[in-house]
Amino acid sequence: MTSKVCIALVIVFSLHVGTISSALCEELKTRYATVRYDDINLLQKFNDEIYLGRQLSQQLRQQKAFTIQDELHNKLNLIVEKVETVLDMFPTQLYVTIVLLPSSKEVQEVYLQKYGKRVNHVAYYSLSEKTIYLSVDDVNLKVLAHEIGHIVVDHYFQVHPPYKIHELLAQFAEEHITN
Ligand SMILES: [Zn+2]
Repeated sequence: MTSKVCIALVIVFSLHVGTISSALCEELKTRYATVRYDDINLLQKFNDEIYLGRQLSQQLRQQKAFTIQDELHNKLNLIVEKVETVLDMFPTQLYVTIVLLPSSKEVQEVYLQKYGKRVNHVAYYSLSEKTIYLSVDDVNLKVLAHEIGHIVVDHYFQVHPPYKIHELLAQFAEEHITN
């Protein structure tokens, strides 16, 4: 899609919040996820906000990266694999969509539109859509590790664990991502 059409769609769709995610025109594909965004600056900011901590940063430096996309690609792979190690869960198939939104306002609008409920989330994982919606304004390694925790748990169990257990495991991933 050309960028002009993309901009036009974003303007039209931003009036109809429910379709925000369908207006995102750019994609970055990694081993575990397709990242969708509508502006390279948002992707750049997302990459900047994800500081990996000492141990994972060391691993990151050993991998080749020429562009922001390369670096983010490497970071996301590292984070998913670290969360799998933390939880000791290695699903055979794991693939999701990550939708980047500028702020929590957009995340909450998408949630309201889909579920009819007002929440104060800065990010959430939709089990039915296999999609993370997240606010780039609020993201950091812990927020991302929490949502990736949900992904790993979702893909690991054939029968979904109770919601509270799902949440506890995501919190565990968040807490131990930098160990
Ligand atoms: Zn959670």
